[in-house]
Formats: sequence, structure tokens, C-alpha cells
Amino acid sequence: MKKQDCIFCKIAAGEIPSKTLYEDEKFRVILDLGPATRGHALILPKEHSADLYVLPEETAGEAMKLAKKMALLLRDKLHCEGLNLVQNNGEVAGQTVSHFHLHLIPRYSDDGQKINWIPSSPTQEELEAVRKEIAE
Ligand code: AMP
Ligand code: ZN
Repeated sequence: MKKQDCIFCKIAAGEIPSKTLYEDEKFRVILDLGPATRGHALILPKEHSADLYVLPEETAGEAMKLAKKMALLLRDKLHCEGLNLVQNNGEVAGQTVSHFHLHLIPRYSDDGQKINWIPSSPTQEELEAVRKEIAE
């Protein structure tokens, strides 16, 4: 997709209105239009990167710093009891907008959400085979 067709580029630039919680030179933080829970927010870098694979390292670090700041703000203001950070890359992983974004999902004991995976039970040998494949 071309940058000029990217909806999150337009939102981050302020060309399309959004429920903005925070903005600085490099980022805009907005409320998700289809929130998983009350206060579900998205951190959008203003510079287009399709996903984590191509996100500049420096921006990745700054996004995580901002996530911490926003997490504290959400806890302080909304009194959530926990928070999920979610970041999808690729269609198979549930990415629907090809502009890197970090989800901040406040959690409440009665929110009825499930943001978890189904655990499997590999053997020690299977785990070791994966470790080798990745790390050696
Ligand atoms: P992902 O599935 O990780 O790509 O997340 C995309 C998220 O963007 C979804 O949670 C959508 O609800 C949200 N979203 C899509 N379009 C907009 C928009 N125009 N404003 C705010 N959030 C949006
Ligand atoms: Zn974009």
C-alpha cells in the first residue's frame, strides 16, 4: 500500500479526525474505533512503517517508552486493573491496518474479554529443536 493511501498516516497527521489522547512530534495516540475495552488506545508513529519488521529501531524504543507513559495515564484516569499491550504483524497474526501500531488495552475484572492464546504442550526435545533453530 502507498503511504498516501494509508488511513493511519492520515489520522496520525491529523488529516482525518480522531479521538486523540496524546500527540507529539513523532506519535499520535488515539482511541480505537472498535475498542476491546473502555479506553482501548492505539499508539501510531507519524512516520509510515508497515509493521515491526521495518519499523526503525529508534521509533520502536520510543513507542515502548510512550506505551509506559500511556499505561500509567490510563491506570490513573480510568482505574483499570491491568493492561494488555498487543501488536499484530501480518494478516495471519490479525493485522488489519498496514501501518505499525501498538494497542493499549486496559483490563477490568468484569470486562469479559479474552486476549490470550491456547497453550500447547511441547516436549523438552521439541522446545530444544526450536531454540536451536532460532538461536544457533
Ligand atoms: P490490527 O488488527 O492490529 O491491525 O488493529 C487495527 C485496529 O484499528 C482495530 O482495533 C480497529 O478497530 C482500529 N481502527 C481501524 N480504523 C480505525 C480508525 N479510523 N480509527 C480508530 N481505530 C481504527
Ligand atoms: Zn501509514
